[in-house]
Amino acid sequence: ELSKVWEPIQIGSMTLPNRIMMGSMHVGFEKLQNGVARLATFYAERAKGEAGLIVTGGAAVHPKGGMGDEYCNVYHDEDIEKLRLITKEVHQANGRIALQLFHAGRYAYKEATGLDPVAPSPLQAPINRWKPRELRAEEIEATIQCFADGAVRAKKAGFDAVEIMGSEGYLINQFLSPVTNKREDEWGGDFLRRARFGIEVAKRVRQAVGPEYPIIYRMSGLDLMPDSTTMEETLQFAKMVEEAGVDALNIGIGWHESQVPTIGMMVPRGAYVWVAQQVKQVVNIPVIASNRINDVRQAEKILYEECCDMVSMARPFLADPYIVQKSQEGRFDEVNTCIACNQACLDHIFDGKVASCLVNPLVGREAEWQLVPAENRKKVAVIGAGPAGLEAARVLAERGHQVVIVEAKKQIGGQLNYARQVPGKEEFNETLRYYRTELTRLGVEIRLGTLAEAEALIEEGFAEVVVATGVIPRRPEIPGVELGHVKGYDAVFEKRAKVGRQVVIVGAGGIACDLSHLLMHDETISAKAAEYLQEYRILDGRAVQQLQQTKRKISMLRRGKHVGSGLGKTTRWAVLANLKRRGVEMLTQIEYSRIAEEGVFFIQNGEERMIPADTVIVAAGATSNNSLYHALLDRLPVHLIGGAKEAGELDAKRAILEGGTVGRAI
Ligand code: SF4
Repeated sequence: ELSKVWEPIQIGSMTLPNRIMMGSMHVGFEKLQNGVARLATFYAERAKGEAGLIVTGGAAVHPKGGMGDEYCNVYHDEDIEKLRLITKEVHQANGRIALQLFHAGRYAYKEATGLDPVAPSPLQAPINRWKPRELRAEEIEATIQCFADGAVRAKKAGFDAVEIMGSEGYLINQFLSPVTNKREDEWGGDFLRRARFGIEVAKRVRQAVGPEYPIIYRMSGLDLMPDSTTMEETLQFAKMVEEAGVDALNIGIGWHESQVPTIGMMVPRGAYVWVAQQVKQVVNIPVIASNRINDVRQAEKILYEECCDMVSMARPFLADPYIVQKSQEGRFDEVNTCIACNQACLDHIFDGKVASCLVNPLVGREAEWQLVPAENRKKVAVIGAGPAGLEAARVLAERGHQVVIVEAKKQIGGQLNYARQVPGKEEFNETLRYYRTELTRLGVEIRLGTLAEAEALIEEGFAEVVVATGVIPRRPEIPGVELGHVKGYDAVFEKRAKVGRQVVIVGAGGIACDLSHLLMHDETISAKAAEYLQEYRILDGRAVQQLQQTKRKISMLRRGKHVGSGLGKTTRWAVLANLKRRGVEMLTQIEYSRIAEEGVFFIQNGEERMIPADTVIVAAGATSNNSLYHALLDRLPVHLIGGAKEAGELDAKRAILEGGTVGRAI
């Protein structure tokens, strides 16, 4: 029974019916045809799902701080009409929505704006090709006014509140931090002068919108940048922002350029709630916590412990617009949980594409992908219960078809069962739990441990068949690959192969990285056991650490140039840094000579080398397992999806998307 989460909360003059906020996300729908209308529908759907409050993606207050004219901005009066489409639809759905006032400062891309970026000081961000120009004093004045004007436009457009974006390393944060503000005039120098811009923005916005209008201020609780704002300064800033007249503080973590993962799957759930808690202790207005909170039960616990007054979730609303409503009705197992993979949301945005969601590809396709009941209800077989097959079955059943899943293995999940074992990837368990619940709810018959055969399918009278039989791991033609100590990656994940202490992995893609993580973490004792042994003084910390340290030596080899290709932009660096820290050796641009009992021989830079290995694991790609498809072709309407269609690296995103597509096509 949750109770805290459903307690109404007051933010200024606005009463929210619950304490879950959908945090700001840039989804880029404006690029699509009828983009603003799509955006309106997207937000309205989350309002129907009973989000307490929705915050829009950042709306630029000045052309230099935005992402280009086609996006939702608030720097022109003409923007008001466009924005009204959004507020109207959200209000019709009985929701509340705040506009985020945004200026990217030195993070603004000249490619997008066509303008030179500006910042407190002319210091280039490592994630931007363009060096910003230092703002002149009168421009700073004008920029503050832009925030105020933007807020007035938001109010006119019908938004219930505004959120001032002051974190994540954007302009306001750039003024506050000594890393990016080297000015010596009244806008820089000591802490008070660095804080002045952010405080003036808050004051001017308050003045412009009047005393009643709710203002949320997103401030950085932790920059995660060397030599940046201290915690003491952060807390002082929080008090100053409160005094400037804002109604709530939303606590952001990390800058976009910081070298610490803050929202990836490897970040434990709720790892940053303590930051909001510190801020809460020094102010009297509501404090909102965020980062890696993806379950309403977890939000309840955080609120119960009085770490904050409200919880912000962003990506979980992409994964499931109805997360709040389902939780309120106690239907937790029906929630499609965000697994923090970033693969279809942030990675898409950083690639200049429109955001979607790996576990919910409906995002961004709302207009064309609404589920309509099948005109002709059929008996459909889905062969393979990996992500492609599961999604196909779910959608087909939702549309009224009679669906049978046939799976050769003894469990559903396909290669998701590999991923979910990898330390830091446990969230994949949630995806499996979701499908298990949904398929049961929809009455899908699941036949496990059953090999599908063409004749039998025809005989049983299936009207159509979806083949999602996945892949067959590839064995490269290296002399010695047939030796007994050479294992396939599938055998290791499925615990069919014993792995020794000296491991060479043939391949260095996403699967090889996953394997390395898994094998490095193969502990002698679990974390729980370690805690117990220490608590009762059976062993001291040092001894436990020694026990925990795996003696395994792992080397990944690759013919190509890059390690971890196929991993998304937002996670690749963190995964590789993690492996390096744990001592995994990575060798690229090599030529294999042969595999021998004692190890792997290869040529690097013209010289032959050998790495000793008692176990060699092959993770060098796969081929499509599509024989059933060919056996059925011309005999039954048959569809090929996922790895069976195109073998690549583990690609759950494409698999689920293709499952969703075929599910709508039959
Ligand atoms: Fe979450 Fe991944 Fe979906 Fe992004 S793509 S919302 S991180 S599940």
